[in-house]
Amino acid sequence: MKKYILKHFNVYLSNLTNFGESFSLKEGISLQDWLDIDEENNKPVDETKMTIQKKMTLRSEKIEYTVRKHRTAKRLKLVISCDGNCTVTLPWRMGFVSADDFIRKNAEWVLEKMKTMKKIGRNSLFARHDQAEYLKLKETAREMVKSRLEKYAEFYGFQYNGVAIRNQKTRWGSCSSKGNLNFNYKILLLPQRHADYIIVHELCHLKEFNHGKRFWNLVGQTIPEYERIVKQLKVL
Ligand SMILES: [Zn+2]
Repeated sequence: MKKYILKHFNVYLSNLTNFGESFSLKEGISLQDWLDIDEENNKPVDETKMTIQKKMTLRSEKIEYTVRKHRTAKRLKLVISCDGNCTVTLPWRMGFVSADDFIRKNAEWVLEKMKTMKKIGRNSLFARHDQAEYLKLKETAREMVKSRLEKYAEFYGFQYNGVAIRNQKTRWGSCSSKGNLNFNYKILLLPQRHADYIIVHELCHLKEFNHGKRFWNLVGQTIPEYERIVKQLKVL
């Protein structure tokens, strides 16, 4: 088992300051796969997830981390988010101790990234988790999103269920299997074209739930320059 895990070990997304840095053992998974598949909305939390908080001493530093077991997770995944928090997601059948082993084995990387993220995180757009700003901007964000959605939904001929504006640390938006679209209120703070891209991205998930070629072709129909925008969003 361990051999297999290390063989598939991948480190990527090294310059993504706002999303946090992550590595995953699942080959070929993209940042977007990880970010916006809305697990919470797809299945009741207690049926699919089990989360525990843990502590350990790693090279004489005390760290805290979260371990989640997830029914749909296929591989172990470790993410250091923009506020420096460390989360390990495990497939349901794996023991919680696998997370500890994995962290120990990658101790240097984990400690370094936690430190870097805490430093960078303070300045990033995502790290700001300002409840007062959220309450102030929420309705304006909703109006903006709704008016853009109306336009794009008409173009594509897609129908969505509801729209929610949320205060999230790690996602610009998400789409649930029930057709509900969720957006981070901070998209109001982005240039309009970038906000449009995020809106179109989630809208197109109504038709294509993955990020395959057909999905990007759909997005490209209204946002042909999406590749450039995706890159820019990553370094905000
Ligand atoms: Zn997506």
